[in-house]
Amino acid sequence: MTASKAAEREERERFDGVDESGDKQVLGKQLWRILPFIKPYKGRFVLGIVANAGARACDLLPFVAMGLLTDAVLNGEITEVRQYAWYGGMILAAFTGLAIFQGISNYSWETLAQFLQHDIRMKAFDSLIKMEMRYFEDRQTGDIMSVLSADVNQLENFLSDASTSIIRIIVTFSAAFAILMWMSWKLTIILFGPIAVIIPLVYFFSTRVQRRYRESRQSFGDINSVLANNISGMGVVQAYNAEQYEAARVGKESGAYMDAAVKATVIRNRFLPGIYVIAGVAFGLLASIGGWLVMTEDITPGQFVTFLLMSTRMSMPLFILGMLVNQIQKSEASARRVFAMIDLEPTIVDKEGAVDLDNRAEKITFDDVHFAYPGAQKVLNGVSFELKKNQSLGIVGPTGAGKSTIVKLLLRYYEPDSGIALMNDSDLQELTLASMRNQIGYVSQDVYLFHGTVRENISYSDQSASQEEIEEAARLAGAHDFICDFVEGYETVVGDRGVKISGGQRQRISLARSLLRRPPLLILDEATSSVDTRTEEIIQRNLNEFKDGRMTVAVAHRLSTIRDADVILVLVEGVVVERGTHDELLAADGVYADLWAVQTGDLEQATGQATKHDD
Ligand code: ADP
Repeated sequence: MTASKAAEREERERFDGVDESGDKQVLGKQLWRILPFIKPYKGRFVLGIVANAGARACDLLPFVAMGLLTDAVLNGEITEVRQYAWYGGMILAAFTGLAIFQGISNYSWETLAQFLQHDIRMKAFDSLIKMEMRYFEDRQTGDIMSVLSADVNQLENFLSDASTSIIRIIVTFSAAFAILMWMSWKLTIILFGPIAVIIPLVYFFSTRVQRRYRESRQSFGDINSVLANNISGMGVVQAYNAEQYEAARVGKESGAYMDAAVKATVIRNRFLPGIYVIAGVAFGLLASIGGWLVMTEDITPGQFVTFLLMSTRMSMPLFILGMLVNQIQKSEASARRVFAMIDLEPTIVDKEGAVDLDNRAEKITFDDVHFAYPGAQKVLNGVSFELKKNQSLGIVGPTGAGKSTIVKLLLRYYEPDSGIALMNDSDLQELTLASMRNQIGYVSQDVYLFHGTVRENISYSDQSASQEEIEEAARLAGAHDFICDFVEGYETVVGDRGVKISGGQRQRISLARSLLRRPPLLILDEATSSVDTRTEEIIQRNLNEFKDGRMTVAVAHRLSTIRDADVILVLVEGVVVERGTHDELLAADGVYADLWAVQTGDLEQATGQATKHDD
């Protein structure tokens, strides 16, 4: 295995819970990790166990009573109806006890399962939300979601269902064992002998089926990923008549899930008949050897009755055992994925000794910054610049030059490989993330609006903002007028990704969100690329007024956007090839001047298109 493959595999094990060594375990170690989550609910947990044990005892008690009754009748000890009624009463009491205990047990376990699934999900989400952007860039949303939904639900099922069955089996078996030992050790051996055979069988098959369950859990995540992808991109799918192609993709993932599940079923169903055969042999032996023991007067007919009745209770747990192992293994596969998420350790965190930025950000410095995305080519090759309060910086250059990467380093989504990025005079890495990001208003290239109203989307950056402040931000962003044109104004609900409004409108709402915060550092990554040039001009004018007292970094493809910037960096293949004001760069007659000539030459046509697309 090459070093990078080994690293990749190690990452998969760490981040996604893919641990093939765990396939050989029946009750894997991940499920045990639920135990600490039970701690806050100790009382409920103990009550659940005690009530379940009580229910099982009440379940077996009538059999003992019937055995005693049989002996009493055969020995002529019963002379009055009252004595029969006494036994009847005992049986009734046992059933009443069963009903009460079972109810308490179910209530305790089912509520416990709900509490735990909530706590586990929140803990996993808590870890997830702290992860650096790289984690999300490398993963599919659908797969992450399936961990938080399907896998956590599997654990809930395990808790409410499988764990009670485990207790049921343990209590039933040990109570039956005790009662039978009390009556006759020979009977105990006949009943428990076959069980001893079944246990290795269970182990043998379950270790084979575990890998299939792991595969099927993973496949389920893959289906979710393809579906999430598909549904988000439905417009593209239909525009390119790619329905069949997408159906084939979903079909492939769904088929993989089906195959893994079918393989698991095949293995399981090879195992279940084995249990039936062994149970059949055991029952046959029970009846014949038990009868023989009655004839040799080793046991009384009453004990034989108790024994036979009790054996019927033993067969159920045995069959459940098969299903249970099934459940446990599915849950183990889910637990592995869930706990892998809980164990996530972000690498972009507050360093030891990190301090809060105590003043407003008034200076940003990049000094000889080099950067490559993990496992990829170098993107930035010694980028340096300085930006001070009241200044704006424009970054231009061809696609892929590394413009957005500079922004990602500014936000500390990633860290430089060498060189240094400073806010005021502190290395970004020496500052607490929260205090540093608090200084920033950011409009990303792919604007994201949450499902909710326009007002909620704008006030996302400052939940305490008043309606006046929200409207003021919207005005600055050139959004107020079109928002007022909506029938419901600021209360208009925008779709999941803001699909009910145009791209340009989305950008302006997102811009308003960043302006509302009145951030010391405003970062605009192609923030007005979908807005028509006339509207953009208005926004630029507003932003120029807004510039006072803050810094602005604007990445733009359209040069008119950054024309008024105090400094413009021209970036080509991660290197700043030119820098200066618009006029200086035009005079230099280099890359920028060329780009400007091309864009102004095309301007009329470009404007027409932009206007058509917007609104
Ligand atoms: P620009 O904003 O100038 O168009 P970017 O900064 O987005 O360019 O990207 C610069 C280069 O880095 C591109 O070649 C791009 O493919 C690559 N890149 C961007 N994001 C990632 C990532 N998360 N992982 C690996 N490579 C990336």
